[in-house]
Amino acid sequence: MKRTISTAVIAAAMLASVPGARAASEEVNLYSYRQPFLIQPMLDVFTEKTGITVNVAYAEEGMLERIKAEGENTPADAVLTADIGRLKDMEDAGVLAAVNSEVLSENIPAAYRHPDGYWFGLTTRARIIFASKDRVGADEVTSYEDLADPKMKGRICIRSGKHLYNISLIASMIVHKGVEETEKWLLGVKANLARKPQGNDRAQAKAIYEGQCDVAIANTYYMGNMQTNDEKPEQKEWASAINIIFPNQGDRGTHVNISGAAVLKHAKRKENAVKLLEFLASETAQSMYAAQNFEYPVKPGVAVSERVQSWGSFKADTISLSEVAKHRAEAARMVDRIGFDQ
Ligand code: FE
Repeated sequence: MKRTISTAVIAAAMLASVPGARAASEEVNLYSYRQPFLIQPMLDVFTEKTGITVNVAYAEEGMLERIKAEGENTPADAVLTADIGRLKDMEDAGVLAAVNSEVLSENIPAAYRHPDGYWFGLTTRARIIFASKDRVGADEVTSYEDLADPKMKGRICIRSGKHLYNISLIASMIVHKGVEETEKWLLGVKANLARKPQGNDRAQAKAIYEGQCDVAIANTYYMGNMQTNDEKPEQKEWASAINIIFPNQGDRGTHVNISGAAVLKHAKRKENAVKLLEFLASETAQSMYAAQNFEYPVKPGVAVSERVQSWGSFKADTISLSEVAKHRAEAARMVDRIGFDQ
């Protein structure tokens, strides 16, 4: 691997080699926003099948800044992210390569990948409504729009409007209904909040459990993570106080986001990076994703986990995420303009 001194330092700090991997000549370097416990089992299978060692550098923040700073000397070949937002930011920064792969085009529906192959969705997650079993009636809330209804006054909890997940939801609303309608809606939601936006998605479930609010917006997999959390069993109780509502089943469908991957423009091992992406979109890896983090595989025909199945099937909003991503900046400005988090 060719490195300058500065990138060698970064690489040493960031790249943990796979334990027990043989001294393979074939490698691929991955920067990942997805947590190691989640992806390592899949990467191990990939290495077994192909002989290609995957070196993973896990990051919580600042991946794009790092890639930009490293420029042509970046040791990274591919990136893994949760949420379309970060993929779109990388696309806009010009650090991604266009990938033309029949396998990826076949396995990933068009709505969940960039039209020119700059990024690919690998799993989807729905942004759903958590509703108190005790305090929310059967048909009281059936859409995102219902959250702006005055009947919900003082009953809603949500994390920051600026969080990636909420920005994408608001951006999808802008695509469907325009800026003006979306702003009216967001003001309505703000007026109904039980408390200032705070915490993560699970913190909203806790707030419902504790009676601070009746409904919240959260991603589907958090329900699975709470229901099965043996380390923090109190989360099982939060989950058991909550019903899952898939919003907008009568019209456009529930907003879904992706976790995804992309190959870098300055990748030194582009071929191996494409092989890795193709593997992650394969039946084997897609089933592993489904089983491990309660996400929805993108590849048609791959079954979701039993637990996810038990939540019921739903109609997803099939609007192109590429289109949604274009309106993220507008959505962020709107959140600021109306002081949603204040
Ligand atoms: Fe998440």
